[in-house]
Amino acid sequence: MIVGVLGGGQLGRMLALAGYPLGLRFRFLDPSPEAPAGHLAPCLTGNYDDQEALESFTSGLSVVTYEFENVPASSVGFLAERLPVYPPPEALEVAQDRLSEKTLFRKLGIPVPPFAPIDTPEDLQSALERIGLPAVLKTRRFGYDGKGQVVLHRPEDAAPALHALGGRNLILEGFVAFEREVSILAARGRSGATVFYPLVENQHAGGILRISLAPAPNLTPELQAQAQDYAARVLEALDYVGVLAIELFQREGQLLANEMAPRVHNSGHWTIEGAETSQFENHLRAVQGLPLGSTAARGHAAMLNLIGTTPEPAAVLAVPNAHLHLYGKSPRPGRKLGHVTLRADDPASLEAHLTELRRLIP
Ligand code: AMP
Repeated sequence: MIVGVLGGGQLGRMLALAGYPLGLRFRFLDPSPEAPAGHLAPCLTGNYDDQEALESFTSGLSVVTYEFENVPASSVGFLAERLPVYPPPEALEVAQDRLSEKTLFRKLGIPVPPFAPIDTPEDLQSALERIGLPAVLKTRRFGYDGKGQVVLHRPEDAAPALHALGGRNLILEGFVAFEREVSILAARGRSGATVFYPLVENQHAGGILRISLAPAPNLTPELQAQAQDYAARVLEALDYVGVLAIELFQREGQLLANEMAPRVHNSGHWTIEGAETSQFENHLRAVQGLPLGSTAARGHAAMLNLIGTTPEPAAVLAVPNAHLHLYGKSPRPGRKLGHVTLRADDPASLEAHLTELRRLIP
């Protein structure tokens, strides 16, 4: 069984690491000859819209999945005519456009901040009148890690922000004064069976995820149920297969959806050591049509991203129950180079070792 993966980044690499014990083999396609998944399995170098590259990529595969969400929808459509592609291409298409994503959430009764499509200065004026300030202006497509977005505080911020973001194909959202950011990860199998991981609390800096705490501190059954209900609606509506992540804002006991990722997600890396079945294994089980594994947390976990630089491995590994993951990427400012997951049986010991780790990880 060879699983084809579009994208050969760290997510692909961790998929392969989870798939080998299940007897799976992998082939990746990535535009970069240095893609980190290439250390583990054959990785074809080619553009996602190169038909010839796609043809040679598919030969002998049992299923195709993706770990990168900006693969052109037309390429995924091309592959879907030839072999099973999971998650379904429609999920990818929706997730590639913040406007379609928020429109779907709203249609499914999932609360979202107020939003409006922006293609002209007039659109922005009337949207600001309706939504008010502060607000966030974002590109509809290709935004990630906080890129392609500007927070508007004063009316004078509108014109320069519109110019900076290209003037069209934008979305304006009301600014949510959230208490915290959380995410829900779910997996749905080919049979429709669905499992949910405990809600995770995510802390960002400079638009990049720094720390995830799992299960989210002070998680109530009500909050978990709310998030599961939202995720279940999306999974059903898209006839989804695979792992889905939804990022949410928590404000006064209520969750508002920000965005979704139709793939394994950075806020689920803790599951490798911190859950009975990792998100990577459950994604592979789902796309292969196998039974899904338990999502139960094994105690408490904290996941810290290694961004731009990596600490001395020996120092990290000297911290009890710290697990180091290096992605084999060359250092560059702002680049995700690895992560560390800390596991503990109770919140107090998690906190103590987290303090130690934070001294090593900027
Ligand atoms: P995004 O690329 O949409 O995930 O946004 C990156 C980060 O910007 C989020 O994780 C939030 O911290 C912040 N952010 C995005 N949209 C909003 C919003 N409507 N209100 C407040 N903060 C936001």
